[in-house]
Amino acid sequence: MNRGQIRFQVRERLRKSGIPRAALEADILCSEAFGCSREELLAHPERQVKPEEVHRLSSIVEARIARVPVAYLKGGASFWGLDLLVGPGCLVPRPETEVLVETALEFFRRGRFLDWGTGSGCVAIALLSEQKEAMALMMEKSPRALLWAWRNLNRFSFLNRALLWHGDSIRKIPSSWLPLDMIVGNPPYIPSPEIPLLMDDVRLHEPILALDGGPDGLQAISAILLEAENALVSGGWLLLEIAGKEQAETLRAMSNRAFELVCVRKDLGGKERIAVWRKK
Ligand code: GLN
Repeated sequence: MNRGQIRFQVRERLRKSGIPRAALEADILCSEAFGCSREELLAHPERQVKPEEVHRLSSIVEARIARVPVAYLKGGASFWGLDLLVGPGCLVPRPETEVLVETALEFFRRGRFLDWGTGSGCVAIALLSEQKEAMALMMEKSPRALLWAWRNLNRFSFLNRALLWHGDSIRKIPSSWLPLDMIVGNPPYIPSPEIPLLMDDVRLHEPILALDGGPDGLQAISAILLEAENALVSGGWLLLEIAGKEQAETLRAMSNRAFELVCVRKDLGGKERIAVWRKK
């Protein structure tokens, strides 16, 4: 069988299993299994497929039918123009989180920042790549995710500008890092009752720890607001990704002794996504 024939078969298989964008995904999975680019795949449909390639492709296709995210199958995802390594155990970087980076760059000029729940390390690494003097304390509760963050720091040679910290409490970070100039984070913010409604890829395969924000989705965000006060310099910034309008309104209505909510930025889909507080 040649590449063109097998590509068509994979497309039909994905389509029948209800995978959206089956044609595009078939190309991505075939390219992955054959170790070639999509252009090469399309340019040479006549190439014969080797038995080991068929074997590799069929296990990738089976995994995709079980809704394993494409990024996990490829072992990578693009974020802020950086090719990051990702896999089971860390949340796949989302485009809306790039707005967190963009907003942080507006407010944060220099110094030390904490990335709360760093996951793959995408936010901290994007910031380190833009702010050459910055230092990152990357906190993460999940040991599996920490490993991905380490791999990415190593990949971009940022190990000397970052500390990976296992935990989820700002109160327990090393005192040598205090006071911080900024805290950023993409905490879990999906209300627990909405978790069963998430698409299968996310619900079945991505870490629930990174998604479930408790009954109203604000559990982690409230804890961060409480703990951040003593860790930031006066005038320091706290930026968190949030779920949208409803959470933005709740947060606006909350009065906080230590923080002033400066603005809430929208993502490309028009959802209120990044809340920015300034420490009074
Ligand atoms: N934006 C993510 C999703 O929709 C949620 C990430 C989070 O809870 N921090 O899957």
